[in-house]
Amino acid sequence: METATATRIDVVNPIDKSVLYQIEETSEQQVKAIFAKARLMEPAIRALTVEQRVAELVKLKNYIMDHREELLTRIIKETGKSRLDGFTSEVFEIIDVMDVFAKLAPKFLKNRSVPTPIVLVGKKSEIWYEPLGTILIIPPWNYPLYQVLVPAVMAFLCGNAVVAKPSEVTPMQGVIEDIIAKSGFMKDAIQVVYGTGITGQRCIDARPDKIHFTGSCRTGRKIMAQAAGHLIPVDLELGGKDAAIVFEDINIERTVNGIMWGGFTTAGQSCTSVERCYVHENIFDKFVEMIVHRTKQLRPSHANRNITDPEDCDVGCVTTEFQLQIIESHIKDAVEKGAKVLCGGKREAGTHHFLPTIVVDVDHTMELMKEETFGPVIPIMKFRTEEEVIRLANDSDYGLGGSVWSKDITRARRVASAIKTGNLSINNHMLNEGNPYLPFGGTKNSGFGRYKGEAGLLTFSNAKSVLVDADSGNIDPNWYPFTKTKYGMLSSIIDHLFDLRRRNWLKFAIVGLKIDSIGKKERLK
Ligand code: NAD
Repeated sequence: METATATRIDVVNPIDKSVLYQIEETSEQQVKAIFAKARLMEPAIRALTVEQRVAELVKLKNYIMDHREELLTRIIKETGKSRLDGFTSEVFEIIDVMDVFAKLAPKFLKNRSVPTPIVLVGKKSEIWYEPLGTILIIPPWNYPLYQVLVPAVMAFLCGNAVVAKPSEVTPMQGVIEDIIAKSGFMKDAIQVVYGTGITGQRCIDARPDKIHFTGSCRTGRKIMAQAAGHLIPVDLELGGKDAAIVFEDINIERTVNGIMWGGFTTAGQSCTSVERCYVHENIFDKFVEMIVHRTKQLRPSHANRNITDPEDCDVGCVTTEFQLQIIESHIKDAVEKGAKVLCGGKREAGTHHFLPTIVVDVDHTMELMKEETFGPVIPIMKFRTEEEVIRLANDSDYGLGGSVWSKDITRARRVASAIKTGNLSINNHMLNEGNPYLPFGGTKNSGFGRYKGEAGLLTFSNAKSVLVDADSGNIDPNWYPFTKTKYGMLSSIIDHLFDLRRRNWLKFAIVGLKIDSIGKKERLK
């Protein structure tokens, strides 16, 4: 990202480093006006039934399906992804999530009756799922369409107005506005503001009712601190350092291919990329030999390479110069500490094209095994026992995703449950993200809160608890006056009802009737 003036930001095509266009920081006044509009929209969105909101969502889905190729081309221009990466992780996933939530939202957001304990006899209990108000969405640059649209439509389905501030690196300026206008989706229900973290801070000061943030731990901390000043709830979807654990009994060819995809898809710029790979000592040499051989066969999107269509490649390029520098510094640190680069390990000079890389002889003193690298690099380490690999996998400040590869599903499940992460796949990597029915989110420094799945929809909803009593005229036992007799009766309920060693329904019923009669007398006084 290069800055022309203080408020104009260049958006750069990472493939050829040309400036695509510029965006401007949104002023405080403009941010206030956008939030005022969102507040004005709230009653109209709230008034829609969930089915009517779903009908709006379907307009978006249809438009995206019909215009997927042009949307994909725009995503590639700003991110440098390979076409298939962009297709599977953005366009396809957005459509899939919309399709699933069009079915699930009416079910999940339906008011529910819940049981009422016997001590509250005569009353009814319900949960109503109401909107929170206006939701602020702040996404990162790696999935510019998905990370805006998925939380935005979830928030909208719950009846909220939405303001999204895309990353200044891949803002996709005008794209969401176009999708909304041309699909006929409800005007102004989802608005977009552009700019850097400064605009993000202005949006937080406009006091949204909730912030959904996806990005780095560093920014997550800042957002949480600013939100704390206004007591705004936040969901934080942060970075990761996923471990892939490979046991000795696996189908080695399939696993090599799966780990390669997990480490190199989107050029390793996924929060749940394979960032560490632990392979059992019995198959270590064979596994390494095969993965190096296969990695060398991949077609990266070299600028200097003779590919007729630069999008027709296996591994796209790294989106930003600052990310390339992090990748290079992690590799340098590892090599200085004794690691060996078996293939890749560098960029094509003067470009954003980083070669798919395999590194061995790594250990946990190296940044490559501790910090998020976010590039097409797979460091591989040998392990001997199950206990050892669980300890290694958990030796991380992050807790986003991971994978366990073994034919022995009982062992794989045991190891999976010992890994402290929010997401985990068995004999695959990051595939749980491909299922919108599953919640997604992190533990430890990878953040908190969930999106997708039931929990991920309800995070944008105010679960209002409602108790309905009859206008019976009776005085409740916990109301005034407080007397010793009443206290004795209420206390005895603990023995008659809750103490499983001496529960006695008859005695409970007698006390209940006495309390009821006291309530009636008190009413008559
Ligand atoms: P980032 O934290 O630098 O920026 C994310 C967003 O925050 C951008 O829109 C940026 O403009 C905005 N921002 C920056 N400072 C701000 C501030 N003070 N107040 C408000 N907004 C501010 O992250 P990035 O470099 O764009 O993205 C890469 C990171 O995102 C990686 O760590 C990756 O793991 C993470 N990520 C996580 C998930 C997940 O679901 N857990 C998914 C994708 C990416």
